[in-house]
Amino acid sequence: MSDTPHQRITVLGATGSIGLSTLNVIARHPERFSVFALTAQRQADKLLEQCLQFSPRYAVLGDENGVAALQAALAAAGSRTEVLTGVDGLEYVSAHADADAVMAAIVGAAGLRPALAAARAGKKLMLANKEALVLSGQLFIDAVSASGAALFPIDSEHNAIFQSLPAGYGRDPRAAGVRRVLLTASGGPFRTTPVEQLAGVTPEQACAHPNWVMGRKISVDSATMMNKGLEVIEAHWLFGARADQIQVVVHPQSVIHSMVDYVDGSVIAQLGNPDMRTPIAHALAWPQRIDAGVRALDLFEIARLDFERPDFERFPCLALAYQALRAGGSAPAVLNAANEEAVAAFLDGGIGFRQIAEVIESTLEQVPSLPVDSLDAVLATDLRAREHARVEIRQRQ
Ligand code: NAD
Ligand code: MG
Repeated sequence: MSDTPHQRITVLGATGSIGLSTLNVIARHPERFSVFALTAQRQADKLLEQCLQFSPRYAVLGDENGVAALQAALAAAGSRTEVLTGVDGLEYVSAHADADAVMAAIVGAAGLRPALAAARAGKKLMLANKEALVLSGQLFIDAVSASGAALFPIDSEHNAIFQSLPAGYGRDPRAAGVRRVLLTASGGPFRTTPVEQLAGVTPEQACAHPNWVMGRKISVDSATMMNKGLEVIEAHWLFGARADQIQVVVHPQSVIHSMVDYVDGSVIAQLGNPDMRTPIAHALAWPQRIDAGVRALDLFEIARLDFERPDFERFPCLALAYQALRAGGSAPAVLNAANEEAVAAFLDGGIGFRQIAEVIESTLEQVPSLPVDSLDAVLATDLRAREHARVEIRQRQ
């Protein structure tokens, strides 16, 4: 193992679902990985516990009111972890010269600035925060190429595609003989629910995903299939595939995590139990393989794999995402912002499940598509779309 360089890792969003899975894999391999920084928005107690276990140099807590208590608790425990706060703190630990790699696992547009800071600083960047890429698109990809950052997709589908593409793939499907990428989708908890019942489903039902345990926002996105829509846009930016080269395939068992269809008729897939520690371990150890604590896949137990076409009428959010990708410019950023607002309103009981798509559609119609050529332009579009979306939400309350 002496030829494996030790990696010091910043985990953005350490207290979330992906953050916990990342720390679980890191803890299995102390000789390979140590923690440089941990960040959380609110859960100071959980962050404290993680700091005492992993002894990071920095901890960043978003909630300023909790900073003093966290500092005091760390000092009382004899810890030397320094506490920072705010977006500046997040950017600092993402771009710091002593951080070898960054796991971007903040949820939503809030993760954009720290993820972009890591990209600009040329880090090894493990990207779970798909919203950051959907929001900033070309700007993000340009930052990665300009700095020479190494971008690893953590989203299980994109990680599967990455694993199914040739080494050194250069974001050009044609040059690599790729006909299409086949993005698998579980179909979420409402794949077979009678359509007339969808209007009345509750946040608890929407968050009860059949195959994955995840944060609440992405769980609702899976229920509307906006998650797959965001992933179509994510696949466009990561792999240079056009909308017509990205086929969503509903696969309820979530065993095939995605596939690449080549011009010679070969289809290469990556399979595994649905456990995010697999893509996380893949990115952490690449190009090597390490134990992720994931149970071996038992094909006899699974016995069968099913496939269906996506139902765009049942899941209008998926159609809206394709529409935004084809429209280009700031449309994906508007889609993402409206979705974040609508999902938050649904989780708060403010609007119904079917109104999530209505809010996004109306917002897309009202906010003009502009070029997103600077971080300021991206953030301004995000803000404007949220304002429109909030008006749409209020009209439905
Ligand atoms: P989560 O809600 O469980 O965790 C989110 C983390 O981000 C927490 O640590 C929280 O403290 C932090 N956070 C929240 N708001 C913040 C803010 N405003 N500023 C700074 N930090 C903030 O979410 P998750 O399920 O772990 O998802 C994280 C990201 O990974 C999302 O973009 C999601 O789409 C993506 N992802 C998740 C999964 C999964 O299985 N959970 C799979 C694929 C992709
Ligand atoms: Mg995914």
